[in-house]
Amino acid sequence: MTNNHKKPEIGPNQIGLLEKLCNATAVSGDEYEVRKIILEAMKPIADEIKVDALGNILVTKLGGGKGRVRVMLAAHMDEIGFMVVKKDEDNLFEFERVGGIDERQLPGKAVLVGRDHLPGVIGAKPIHMTTAKERKNKIKVSDMRIDMGPEIGDRVKPGDRATFATRFRVLGPSICAKALDDRLGVATLMELLKYAPENIDLLAAFTVQEEVGLRGARVAAYAFDPEMAIALDSTPANDLPHWDDEDENVQYNTRLDAGPAIYVMDRATIADRRLVNWLRETAEDCGIPYQFRQPGGGGTDAGVIHKTRSGIPSTSVSVPSRYLHTAAGIARLDDWVNTLSLLHAALCRVTPELLAVERRD
Ligand SMILES: [Zn+2]
Repeated sequence: MTNNHKKPEIGPNQIGLLEKLCNATAVSGDEYEVRKIILEAMKPIADEIKVDALGNILVTKLGGGKGRVRVMLAAHMDEIGFMVVKKDEDNLFEFERVGGIDERQLPGKAVLVGRDHLPGVIGAKPIHMTTAKERKNKIKVSDMRIDMGPEIGDRVKPGDRATFATRFRVLGPSICAKALDDRLGVATLMELLKYAPENIDLLAAFTVQEEVGLRGARVAAYAFDPEMAIALDSTPANDLPHWDDEDENVQYNTRLDAGPAIYVMDRATIADRRLVNWLRETAEDCGIPYQFRQPGGGGTDAGVIHKTRSGIPSTSVSVPSRYLHTAAGIARLDDWVNTLSLLHAALCRVTPELLAVERRD
């Protein structure tokens, strides 16, 4: 008896969940807000759920019958952001970046600081006061401060995290938010757990500290000891026609509206051939649009998962988003829907033969 006929969908409930996840603060190493949302929602449906020493959530959803494959899916809870490191005498806060953020993105941005989401701004010198030379140069992060007004007192301390203050919006066919990387993956994994097919044991890792070097996934994969793994992430769509003032954009990575991005290679992983074929064949058989993410920079949790224990066949599937690691990203609802459909359909087709050595060689 399987429940393969039940398919996940994306409607107002799922969009509401994504909104909650994107608006939560979970800068690497302090993922508690997102963890709380996931734990609350997943407790009723999990066969086992635990939080490990680093803060990863490990959810097990067992299938039924014999010949089940142990499939790990990973989505990272953390996001890029800032850490307050020092209060100056004039009540301004020095900060460091957590994860990859271009410093040119920072001056003048509104932020939310600490567990109480206190409002502040990364101060910027007004254009009236800057020289032509200053406008050409980058401002160093060490020269920037978070300004929260003189009354802030001791409510903010070194170690507190801050995020961009962007609030989630639906813009027609698009969603605009901070932290789409990787709340899109988190929301997708939460839906897949609800509709996990019987032919697999679904081992779901909601990981910590991906943005600072895939740290949580390493211990999560060790604990789960899966037979295969997929990292669910969001990857940059570098698809605007005139990027960087060049005549033509010849560096497409992924594009919006082209469906889930299947990985063949990134900086951290060469995808397992069997898994790439399985995803592509599933998409073609089911008529789900898909694209291959073009190799290049970046990596996902698969980068450490595949090197765990004696090796774990791995790949990644991402929802493409524009402007990742800035204050606001843009993704398409349809790309999210198709990512969820592809992953669910692919999981329903997993059999032990998928991992047969002959299929790789
Ligand atoms: Zn990511």
